[in-house]
Amino acid sequence: MTHKPLVMLVMSIMAPVLVGCGPRRTTTVDPPLDPVFRETGEPLGYRRQRPAGRRSRSQTTRPSRRPWTVANLSNRWKYIIVHHSATQAGGARRFDRAHRDNGWDELGYHFVIGNGSDTPDGKIEVGSRWRQQKHGAHCRVSPGDSNEYNKHGIGICLVGNFEYTRPSAAQMKSLTYLTKGLLACTHLPASAVHYHRDFDSTKCPGRYFPYARYKRDLRD
Ligand SMILES: [Zn+2]
Repeated sequence: MTHKPLVMLVMSIMAPVLVGCGPRRTTTVDPPLDPVFRETGEPLGYRRQRPAGRRSRSQTTRPSRRPWTVANLSNRWKYIIVHHSATQAGGARRFDRAHRDNGWDELGYHFVIGNGSDTPDGKIEVGSRWRQQKHGAHCRVSPGDSNEYNKHGIGICLVGNFEYTRPSAAQMKSLTYLTKGLLACTHLPASAVHYHRDFDSTKCPGRYFPYARYKRDLRD
């Protein structure tokens, strides 16, 4: 009688222990972004798919529904002007403090789109300027000029420094959603959408902002 079957049985039981390969740890990869749509087909937010129980600050939440909606819409608006914050982190509250420290009345932008630092990735914050339908403080070309772009420009700021990094997918989807909503409610053409760098000697919103894709997405 041979002991071969017994030896093989023992080996098969011991092998994982001997070579240290017990249950394999699965390596985690960045999960794909999962757009959240309502019945209307409007994207309201983009949350990362995570195992139950795991939450983090970068997990996105739904931006407020139709953040452009106001009861007292002004007819002053002629431009929509896109900016980056030129900072790695931030949000409306932090920029409001910084702008007041500059001696301005309040947050200079009308909207801020978070990047997962101070607020969730893609979160649209509505500034008090927009609620009041008040002029902006984000695009003054020179001190003595007519201040055309602040008087008539809606300022949207994406948190990030796009001279070094790209905006996130969630930020771009929220920006497109917000811009389309603003164009519809103000009855402005897509040609009213500009960048800070169009008017001022600045690189804002930075070399890695996807200019062509954004304009294409606005047409879709
Ligand atoms: Zn700017």
